[in-house]
Amino acid sequence: MTVTGLETVAHWIGGERVEASEAWGEVTDPATGAVARRVALAGAGEVDRAVEAAAAAFERWSRESLTRRSNVLFGFRERLAARAGDLAGIVTAEHGKTTDDARGEVQRGLEVVEFACGLAHLVKGEASEAVATGVDSRSLRQPLGVCAGITPFNFPAMVPLWMFPLALACGNSFVLKPSEKDPSASMLLAELLADAGLPDGVFNVVHGERDAVDALLTHPRVDAVSFVGSTPVARHVYETATAHGKRVQALGGAKNHAVVMPDADVEIAADAIASAGYGSAGQRCMAISAVVAVGAAGDALAEALAERARAVRVGPGAEEGSEMGPLVTGAARDRVTGYIEQGEREGAALLADGRGMSVDGHEDGFWVGPTLFDRVSEDMAVYRDEIFGPVLVMLRAETFDEALDLVNRNPYGNGAAIFTADGRTAREFESRVQVGMVGINVPIPVPMAYYSFGGWKQSLFGDLHVHGREGVLFYTRGKVVTERWPEQALGAEYGFPAHR
Ligand code: NAD
Repeated sequence: MTVTGLETVAHWIGGERVEASEAWGEVTDPATGAVARRVALAGAGEVDRAVEAAAAAFERWSRESLTRRSNVLFGFRERLAARAGDLAGIVTAEHGKTTDDARGEVQRGLEVVEFACGLAHLVKGEASEAVATGVDSRSLRQPLGVCAGITPFNFPAMVPLWMFPLALACGNSFVLKPSEKDPSASMLLAELLADAGLPDGVFNVVHGERDAVDALLTHPRVDAVSFVGSTPVARHVYETATAHGKRVQALGGAKNHAVVMPDADVEIAADAIASAGYGSAGQRCMAISAVVAVGAAGDALAEALAERARAVRVGPGAEEGSEMGPLVTGAARDRVTGYIEQGEREGAALLADGRGMSVDGHEDGFWVGPTLFDRVSEDMAVYRDEIFGPVLVMLRAETFDEALDLVNRNPYGNGAAIFTADGRTAREFESRVQVGMVGINVPIPVPMAYYSFGGWKQSLFGDLHVHGREGVLFYTRGKVVTERWPEQALGAEYGFPAHR
């Protein structure tokens, strides 16, 4: 079915597309600015239908053998690997990032599926024989029930893949509410799961905005919520869902710093920082957005970064040779150019200006070119706020301690990197920096699937990070069994049992 002649992105509930929707939104092609399709926007009714489908499917799925569950995940892994190119194409079409970048995102998601394929090992408990005479103890990890995932626009394939493969592996059912800005990737994921033999209702997708999210956060049958997005929404999700008795992990925004020491190789540091600042047009939660140059590092680094900023080839993500695509929407472009204006007004030195960028044949795309500010101070909006665009700001510090204090004063705590040739400085940074993920001569320290991903401070509300060991803990709850098989009545004991 189409609405006003455009292709539609439907919900996926109980193993089938559900076209009926209370409202519809528009999905644009960021490289042309044209409306490409319409997306269903769920209200409480559709969310309830998806949650009830997931709750019904949970009863059976949670009791399936580990072998059967891992067979489905292995099948999904094969299908996802085979369709990685198609999925990357969908990501580029709706998000705007380059094809290479989209392939990288799919690859990182695939690695979480591979980790989840080892579920039989991951959910193993512990056992102790003879904790007291004739008494044994063991622990189990059991699924929670219906888990919800609410995800951002910037990784429409990878972030859902951080969540649902492990949730399903652990025996939960799942309702995904992807970003309404680029919703189509989640539909291919749903189809591949169904094709791999996942029973109907175990995985569902509802599209929508705030109403759909709030319906999930307050639904009595939802047991856990994983959220990734901006800090204000992460806080809202955490506060609302925990108030409704749910387990929550809510990952928020970021302002990731790179500290560059005077002993660092300037060319190596500039290459790494430019790729991490301008890759995906700066729309990564692990993008470097603030550079802190220590002592003599400043001038040479500013020059090397400006040179790279001007050389980035900006163009449609699907076009060969493009190194950076457009921003996701017109509103995102306007927000970013507004920050550039404000940075200028507040007195920062603008070394590269991405405003007014135009790409031949794509004049209506949402373009902003790589932008670099030097001589930025902590009170300026371009430093304080997460801009989420291709804007790097550079601050100066006299000493390592001054730089570290600056990083640690920032309210966000996702990732931070240091560039140095000195092991002792790197070690000091690793130990004292207040973030969840640290890079040493590595600009975007995104952990592999078998480690966990997450920040500190206002970059995470909740206790557990996503995927890896912490992901398994999040999607399961513990149970400890104590058993004995007495041969005869032992007589009632009224003291607290001491297990001798
Ligand atoms: P966003 O917070 O606007 O949206 C995230 C999700 O929340 C979407 O599904 C959206 O529909 C929903 N949403 C938006 N406004 C809402 C509201 N008022 N109430 C309830 N739900 C709402 O984020 P975005 O713009 O899609 O993504 C970019 C943000 O995500 C950046 O801040 C980025 O740093 C962050 N992010 C963080 C991580 C991380 O791991 N910490 C990873 C990726 C992205």
